[in-house]
Amino acid sequence: MRLLPLFLLALAARAEFLAGAAKAVITPDLKTYGPVYMAGFDHGRAATAVHDDLWARCVAMKAGARPTVICEVDLIGLFYDDTQRVRAEIRKKHANADVVVASTHVHEGPDTMGQWGANRLTPGINDAYMAFLTGRIAEAGVAALDALRPAHATLAAVAPPELDDFIADDRPPIRHDAGLVVLALSDAAGKPIATVVNWANHPETLGSRNTELTSDYPHYLRTRLEARVGGVGVLWNGAVGGMQSPLGAKVKDPASGAEAKDRTFRKAEIIGQRVADLAAEALASAKPSPVDSLVFRETVVRIPMTNPGFQMAAKAGLFKGRKLPNDDGTTNTPVGLVRIAGGGQALVDIALIPGEMYPELSLGGVERYSGADYPDAPIEPAIKTLETAKFRMLIGLANDEIGYIIPKAEWDEKPPFLNNSPRRHYGEVNSVGPDAAPRIAEAFQRLVKP
Ligand SMILES: [Zn+2]
Repeated sequence: MRLLPLFLLALAARAEFLAGAAKAVITPDLKTYGPVYMAGFDHGRAATAVHDDLWARCVAMKAGARPTVICEVDLIGLFYDDTQRVRAEIRKKHANADVVVASTHVHEGPDTMGQWGANRLTPGINDAYMAFLTGRIAEAGVAALDALRPAHATLAAVAPPELDDFIADDRPPIRHDAGLVVLALSDAAGKPIATVVNWANHPETLGSRNTELTSDYPHYLRTRLEARVGGVGVLWNGAVGGMQSPLGAKVKDPASGAEAKDRTFRKAEIIGQRVADLAAEALASAKPSPVDSLVFRETVVRIPMTNPGFQMAAKAGLFKGRKLPNDDGTTNTPVGLVRIAGGGQALVDIALIPGEMYPELSLGGVERYSGADYPDAPIEPAIKTLETAKFRMLIGLANDEIGYIIPKAEWDEKPPFLNNSPRRHYGEVNSVGPDAAPRIAEAFQRLVKP
């Protein structure tokens, strides 16, 4: 009877799946922390009011020895230094927790990276707010871990062409990572714990002249998810680089039949609600999948920081001690993977990418253009083609924000410009350097191997 003991052993190796979620408001009080400089676009944009709250929304999961908690925050980005502070805080209570802190990249929240203060040389980072923020994110992370309970996971994916209409892209190749991957977590009785949507678009619908703090389209997306599906509504933003934006996208208002005005809360509402509705509809026909394993992997890569603007910003103290380069001019940044599996099959792979990845590096489709600075650079393997699970996710700005992650073969600072363009394309000015993409892809390739 050799089969029986082996069968029992296999059973013993399967862990119970647990999930929990929590959310905390991280909106800066304008009196306590004012002036609050808003991040994204140009510097010197002081907030005048709060339209809707900014959040830290944390989802904890466990199937095995160590729990993982993923906190998505309504911020332009957080550096690895701040992620490490949150991790240390959470580990005071949950010593073996793996912690992910990712930003939605909202352009209508406070400056947490230093580049958008009163003027070009004054950091917009408020130390007192950063301390409050770290504490709040950690509290939400701990609350999600405290709430871990037996759970079911239901996954769905949908990619109707209408999602592309919410994204304007002004740099070739025109490529969007516009499909939705949805993860619904419910307890043993079927009560919703959290509903997570992984999508990719810049939360900057309100544009550069808005001075009311808002989480932008994610506000409407999450509110609708909570109303239709339940649990804590969450957006994990994805490959938003090069340049995925609602600004300039032609979006029809279903109420009037006319095109929604750019830079309005109404436009953000239409986008957020429609994405949530599509996610809810996709979930309606999906069934829970068995989960018995969850693995978290992370590696820290060193990327040459060749961007003179970033070097100057670091020297001028704009980052307030964050992102200090190594002696060889490289910056440390983490690349990670969460793999959820059941019955020996990978169910969902979640890539943790520390910046704004160009969609062609997520899905594939890097192009070679005349005028590129590195015409012979090898083409990086695309993250979602390296993933092997049935459902493939990518969280951008995960644990760090190093700016745009551009295919090396598409890197273009020197004339002639890509495809004989009369002007330089936007992107490189907000990227660490041309080696970010190859180093991150190479690191992820190693992580994703079984
Ligand atoms: Zn951006």
